[in-house]
Amino acid sequence: MVFSETLSQASSLAERALELMRDHSVPPTPANFGVWYAHVSGQYPDLSKAIDALLQRNERFSSGCNEELYRTFFGSEGQTDAVRDTSEKMQDTAVRVIEKLRQAGVDVSSFGEKLAAFGEDVANGGDLGSVIQRMLAETEAARQRNAKLETQLGEATQEIEDLRSHLEDLRIEALTDSLTGLFNRKHFDAQLRRDVLHAREAGEPLCVVFCDIDHFKRFNDTYGHATGDKVLKLVARTLKQSAKGRDTAARYGGEEFGVVLPGTVMRDALAFAEQVRRRLAGKELKTLDGSSSFGSVTMSLGVSQYRAGEPVTHLLQRADAALYASKRDGRNRVTAEAADDLPEAAAS
Ligand code: GH3
Ligand code: MG
Ligand code: MG
Repeated sequence: MVFSETLSQASSLAERALELMRDHSVPPTPANFGVWYAHVSGQYPDLSKAIDALLQRNERFSSGCNEELYRTFFGSEGQTDAVRDTSEKMQDTAVRVIEKLRQAGVDVSSFGEKLAAFGEDVANGGDLGSVIQRMLAETEAARQRNAKLETQLGEATQEIEDLRSHLEDLRIEALTDSLTGLFNRKHFDAQLRRDVLHAREAGEPLCVVFCDIDHFKRFNDTYGHATGDKVLKLVARTLKQSAKGRDTAARYGGEEFGVVLPGTVMRDALAFAEQVRRRLAGKELKTLDGSSSFGSVTMSLGVSQYRAGEPVTHLLQRADAALYASKRDGRNRVTAEAADDLPEAAAS
């Protein structure tokens, strides 16, 4: 969280935050306070939108709900030491630029005052030659100061730009699985929370697909870990091929993958999962020279659909249970959460 209020602004925001927390029975823990302070500061429009939506629906700020707000908006995503360092450097540079610009403003006004004083000298019958000499010297000094300022500002701008792009690299690195290039679990969890919040606000459907490679241990034992890693990359490519738009495909763990499908009902999520399953099963893994084949690899998949108001963990548990039903029923298949458990939107 980054705030830049003065002491008195900060105190009144803090009071307002505590007042609202009292009104809505939110325990004043540091995390909750951070959330509500951020809300009243107006600097986190997405967070404010989420809180307003909850207020409008008269929802209770249960401990699960508070935790979810904190994790969604201020969770540890991307907050590595390197990210914090880089952000701080950027802020330092920005502060230096602002100080230089302020100083430049002071210089310009003192130059103006000097010019006015020369005018008075001349009006009072001062020696014109010497006034002109001093004016030229002042003008030259001002020109040099401006040239130096321009160079310094140019350098600072470049510095900020470099730090910004470094920050972006770090952020992406922190969210990416290095082997497959898919998002990692951390990003999956954070994105799922954001998407669920949006689904809840907008009354949109959302589905989650869990996938697990079939008999992967046997594959590794037979062909070696390095070939196993190629399978993981192949699965990643297959998922990327099917995931579109707002979909988030991630490597959830060793040989497990997850996909968030916002704006998607069960029927379409099942079609997505079936497409992934079929595409993977249809690919033949060959040795580098193409001379021999490792055969094909299959996955078992499970799909669940979000039910308004439920905790994200329930949604994940149902996808997991559906995935294990696929394993139980013989693998290489897609299973939906139990039919009589479907939310209204999917059943209609
Ligand atoms: P099931 O069909 O029931 O899922 O059987 P399985 O063998 O796939 O499941 P199990 O959980 O017994 O084994 C998972 C295997 O995944 C174990 C491990 O060798 C492999 N694995 C996990 N992470 C990696 C990885 O990063 N690279 C490779 N090559 N293999 C991995
Ligand atoms: Mg597994
Ligand atoms: Mg497996």
